[in-house]
Amino acid sequence: AQLDTLDLIVLAVLLAGTVAYFTKGTYWGIPKDPYAVAYSSANGAKAGKTRNILEKMDESEKNCVVFYGSQTGTAEDYASRLSKEGSQRFGLKTMVADLEDYDYENLDTFPNDKLAVFVLATYGEGEPTDNAVDFYEFVIKEDVSFSNGGGVDEKPLQNLKFVAFGLGNNTYEHYNSMVRRVNDALVKLGASRIGTAGEGDDGAGTMEEDFLAWKEPMWTELSEKMGLEEREAVYEPVFSITERDDLDANADEVYLGEPNKHHLEGSQKGPYNSHNPYIAPIAESREVFTVKDRNCLHMEIDIKGSNLTYQTGDHIAVWPTNAGVEVDRMINVLGLSEKRHCVISVKGLDPTAKVPFPTPTTYDAAIRYHMEICGAASRQFVSSLAPFAPNEQTKAEMTRLGNDKDYFSDKVSSQYLNIAQVLEKVDSVNKWSNIPFSIMIEGIHKIQPRYYSISSSSLVQKDKISITAVVETIRVPGSENIVKGVTTNYLLALKQKQHGDPNPDPHGLTYAITGPRNKYNGCHVPVHVRHSNFKLPSDPSKPIIMIGPGSGVAPFRGFIQERAAQAEAGEKVGQTILFYGCRKSSEDFLYKEEWEHYKQALGSSFTLITAFSREQREKVYVQQRLQENAALVNQLLEKEKGNFYVCGDASNMARAVSDVLGKIVSEQRGVSIEKGEEIVKMMRSSNQYQEDVW
Ligand code: FAD
Repeated sequence: AQLDTLDLIVLAVLLAGTVAYFTKGTYWGIPKDPYAVAYSSANGAKAGKTRNILEKMDESEKNCVVFYGSQTGTAEDYASRLSKEGSQRFGLKTMVADLEDYDYENLDTFPNDKLAVFVLATYGEGEPTDNAVDFYEFVIKEDVSFSNGGGVDEKPLQNLKFVAFGLGNNTYEHYNSMVRRVNDALVKLGASRIGTAGEGDDGAGTMEEDFLAWKEPMWTELSEKMGLEEREAVYEPVFSITERDDLDANADEVYLGEPNKHHLEGSQKGPYNSHNPYIAPIAESREVFTVKDRNCLHMEIDIKGSNLTYQTGDHIAVWPTNAGVEVDRMINVLGLSEKRHCVISVKGLDPTAKVPFPTPTTYDAAIRYHMEICGAASRQFVSSLAPFAPNEQTKAEMTRLGNDKDYFSDKVSSQYLNIAQVLEKVDSVNKWSNIPFSIMIEGIHKIQPRYYSISSSSLVQKDKISITAVVETIRVPGSENIVKGVTTNYLLALKQKQHGDPNPDPHGLTYAITGPRNKYNGCHVPVHVRHSNFKLPSDPSKPIIMIGPGSGVAPFRGFIQERAAQAEAGEKVGQTILFYGCRKSSEDFLYKEEWEHYKQALGSSFTLITAFSREQREKVYVQQRLQENAALVNQLLEKEKGNFYVCGDASNMARAVSDVLGKIVSEQRGVSIEKGEEIVKMMRSSNQYQEDVW
């Protein structure tokens, strides 16, 4: 019988396994599992592209790889900036790599004339970003295994030279833990780091400046160590943009905002995930604030028939569309008005460059659906646009903004300007049509889905996901500028459409609400679900204490809805205590009437404790109410082993609540404040204390 492809693959796998077995290599610190080697190479072959980074680098003649672990796109952006600088200023042959796209077991054979850069964001409670989970677990496992003896004496990563920068937020307990732990592990395994392991702090609002301040000494040290010579950086585009006169925007193969091929072909198909959204109908939407000048939306998103599932406490991601005024601003300032619907093909000029959206597309669709055009302009990006200014005067101004940190802060950051606003401000008369569109794609993040804590119970409504979203409108102090949150204002526009609300946005926002080729018509929104560890105890009779001021109440509405249903079904439900805070009970008290309904079902096991900050002269917050109920809180946690949950604002509230709980434990149990804090830490690591903060 003839050998078919499957047979050949099986044979190749067995052969590879045998070779690996007899060569008895090690994965860094642990002996290699021959089957894992065989599996991963077979896997790479099947996907048609290699997962072997060394092979990829050889193939594309690179000597520097910049890996990123990114959740919101900032780490990815920094990685591509480092890659570009490395190539343009120092002549390195660089490539950018998503950590998810490669295997790591061969990093011990990484040649010492090459360089690996790691740009790593820390997410949530000291966790890796979704695309870095496997990498992180691998590195930590290797580190632990090596530290325990692991079977080898020699440090496995002695040849590896690396550079590391972390993105974190100092308001979280595990500040920058991703870069810290990876750095420690790599160094312990023998790798040598060049420069410091940089740390950017989003909590202090200094991320960009931390990054800029870290990278210059790193480049100096790197050039010394690798014998690189700095040269004057000349811009080289990463992408080629071809205007396609042969294609009409309405042609079937042109992407007008569809996220992928299935969507383009009109047959959206699961599984739905962070690469493939489900275009979900909005079953219901309403306003939950009772004041005119602020909005909070409650929405019911229908996932029936999509095969999407969720559990109470999970998150839903909403894929936004940019507001029309901002799309117009960008198109206009770049001098693209005449060509906005011109079809373009975008290709990486280098085999390692990934085009961040599907093409062929149009300028309009790329800007509207794929680019984060409203975000804060970065100083480095402003500086990199200077050579393309319409004249010498504007070029000088762009260069000054790029070089002078304080001037930039005064003119741009403190005004919350996005990049198109900066260009408009620097030269409002001339168009910036010399700017290559490639540099805009390189310098502006890919638009990111925004997460919302699901505010319904999957037990009660498994096919409908509720969200509770406060609409972001920021009047920038001392400026005319008003920053409107991208996603929440898009959702607000959807709600207004659903209700036939004729009131236009007071700031002129409009949205392409029916989506590409009207595919979102009838009030749809692209979404996917992200599973979280923020979960009710499996035993409903266990007490729970929930701290959820403002929109932080979202997941707790789901928790309480679930417990009310369990009580109605005759189950024994434990103490369910919600600490809720807002400005005034008459303005922004979320779900005020609903709590009454749950109270009827739950009876005395449900307690709602409120803090209205603006109803009396002294401001009152949830943490004060927590303190006032110290004895009860401690009893439920200590004696009845209840769970403690915090959701909402990470920068102030979550930390204040954690401190107050430490104090309560210390007072109530008669232990020192340090001991109280240690007990709270232990509660966190055993999941008795859970946070869902942003
Ligand atoms: P964005 O456009 O993303 O703007 C957000 C903020 O960025 C602005 O307020 C401003 O501070 C800053 N910003 C934007 N543009 C600029 C600029 N040009 N210059 C300077 N600063 C700028 N929110 C809820 O309301 N309910 C929830 O249940 C909820 N759950 C969440 C759960 C998780 C796990 C996470 C991570 C977040 C959650 N959020 C929730 C927050 C939510 O994801 C969004 O961040 C929020 O709705 C704002 O999104 P947006 O697109 O409207 O605003």
